[in-house]
Amino acid sequence: MQIAVCVKQIPDPGDPPRFDAQTYRLDRSGAIILDDSDAYSVEMALRLAEVAGGEVTAVSVAPDGELSGLRTALAMGVQRAVLVSDPALAGLDALGTAKVLAAVARRVGAELVLAATESTDGYTGTVPVQLAELLAWPALSFARHVELEDGLLRVQRQTEAGYDELRCPPPAVVTVTAGVVEVRYPTMKGILSARSKPVDQLSLADLDLEAAEVGVLGAGQEVVGIEDAPVRAAGTMVTDDGTGHVAVLEALRSWKVI
Ligand SMILES: Cc1cc2nc3c(=O)[nH]c(=O)nc-3n(C[C@H](O)[C@H](O)[C@H](O)COP(=O)(O)OP(=O)(O)OC[C@H]3O[C@@H](n4cnc5c(N)ncnc54)[C@H](O)[C@@H]3O)c2cc1C
Repeated sequence: MQIAVCVKQIPDPGDPPRFDAQTYRLDRSGAIILDDSDAYSVEMALRLAEVAGGEVTAVSVAPDGELSGLRTALAMGVQRAVLVSDPALAGLDALGTAKVLAAVARRVGAELVLAATESTDGYTGTVPVQLAELLAWPALSFARHVELEDGLLRVQRQTEAGYDELRCPPPAVVTVTAGVVEVRYPTMKGILSARSKPVDQLSLADLDLEAAEVGVLGAGQEVVGIEDAPVRAAGTMVTDDGTGHVAVLEALRSWKVI
């Protein structure tokens, strides 16, 4: 089975984010890494391929020929990578990203696409489901476990109460919930072999896509401002002198939780 795994390469969350004062775009000139959310889908894709057979391709849309996050995926064991990088993509929005990823999925002959449920930088959580719609494939979201049995995909979809079991024949797009599997660390051998694995670097023209369709000209979303997240208000401390539960119940009633 040909599995494509979407990999967003993001500025290191350990560094303070910087924004362009005019466009409010995230400054991606510093260290770029594999989004931690996507490490879980890479892990799941590798486990699926190990059991069901097949090849895993990591796919990323990123500016300036950025490869460092893809190299991490290759070092983890992914066989090949595709990077779409094109100056005309500056300002692309979530739907534009999904259109580019759909074109790559078709080009690599993917039968299954894995992605994270949402990224950790400028997340909208909409790219994978838009990708599924563009490919006209089912979207199986919030997966905590994925397996392929007798040619059928079986996904445990995380819910508030537990999980639902979903089944469908591939092709499909599956979004993986962060934290659901233990992610392998790249070994030294993996890091060294990543350097010689194939990386296909594509432009929009290679994918027969027009800048007017996916770049800033085609963007339906616009970032109109950015502000700091509000500081969390201090909580209320209740010292339990044997009647602490009364204060807790009162608080829950005042919030209309009970
Ligand atoms: C108006 C606007 C302008 C933007 N301009 C730029 C820009 O100039 N430069 C820029 O770099 N970004 C830009 N972005 C962000 C970029 O387009 C994002 O990749 C896109 O919005 C989707 O990211 P998300 O975090 O919302 O995806 P989510 O839906 O939260 O991501 C879920 C998952 O989808 C997959 N995915 C998402 N994005 C990618 C990707 N790029 N490559 C591979 N897999 C992916 C990953 O598996 C990810 O974990 C812009 C966004 C907007 C709204």
